[in-house]
Amino acid sequence: MPATERDDQPVIAVDLGATTTRVALFGTGGEIIKKVSSSTPATGDSPEIVTLHLAGLIRKILPRKGGPSPAAIGISACGPIDHRRGSVVRPPNLPFREIPLAGPLGEEFGLPVRLANDCHAGVLGEVVFGSGAGCRNLVYITFSTGIGGGVICNGRLVLGREGNAAEIGHFHIDTTFNLPCGCGGTGHWEGYASGRFIPRFFARWCDLRGRIPGEIDNSSAAGIFAAARRGEPVALDFVRALGEINGRGVSNVIVAYDPSHIILDGSVVLQNEDLILSSLLPCVDRFLPLPEIRITALDGLAPLYGASVIARGYDTVVGPILPR
Ligand SMILES: [Zn+2]
Repeated sequence: MPATERDDQPVIAVDLGATTTRVALFGTGGEIIKKVSSSTPATGDSPEIVTLHLAGLIRKILPRKGGPSPAAIGISACGPIDHRRGSVVRPPNLPFREIPLAGPLGEEFGLPVRLANDCHAGVLGEVVFGSGAGCRNLVYITFSTGIGGGVICNGRLVLGREGNAAEIGHFHIDTTFNLPCGCGGTGHWEGYASGRFIPRFFARWCDLRGRIPGEIDNSSAAGIFAAARRGEPVALDFVRALGEINGRGVSNVIVAYDPSHIILDGSVVLQNEDLILSSLLPCVDRFLPLPEIRITALDGLAPLYGASVIARGYDTVVGPILPR
């Protein structure tokens, strides 16, 4: 990726998540100089509440007077986003039709603002700073409240029309359980294997397979995985069923993008790496060669790191040159 005149200035990175917002000042070597975080406003009369919240956090990490002034702001936002408008549009977890970000923040701070969806930011964070460093064909998959993906293909970030390509959580992967997805579709990966929907899949799977949950705390994904770790047969069999679902999702990712590496992130994977990997790997199709599957090394901060990459303008081309 080409060096730019902005590379000798710090940048501001924002990760606007559905529940937590993180803001950091990144130095020229990609190091975090200062970082703050806070809960994302979930209610309000106007989307301005989100913009004002972000502006307040950014002010907290600005360099002191006389310090080097930041070159730009990069934002990773839970989507969907509209790239051209610099907005989040119809966010499923926030009660607003549109949240304009680039316009108001650019005006407030007098800086260029660049925006990407959080999974696109995540894959940029991984390819520049994380487990995918230097890869030219890489897919980042996050399993948290939902399931999302970011793709770098032939060294380029796959953006799509408005910046929402690779919504892999909505791959169609099942016709047996027919579970609805948050998007309104049915049989989508996210409706089974995301943190939010694993308990519901467990309940439907028990129903359909005639299994009794017994003592298992099935109110959360954590309770079900804990039961599997204790060796409860019902939970272990369910984890195998979940592996089949994840295996279909990952198989689709492989034939769609032919990646050399897949990086897994998100709380569901990070807290249950052993169970998720051991159950999904036997279920992945081998039509194309199996990519190397790695776990993120960025400790949940891949989108924030990616936002610092976006701030520097590396939003479409990811070349072999890593930041200094
Ligand atoms: Zn869906």
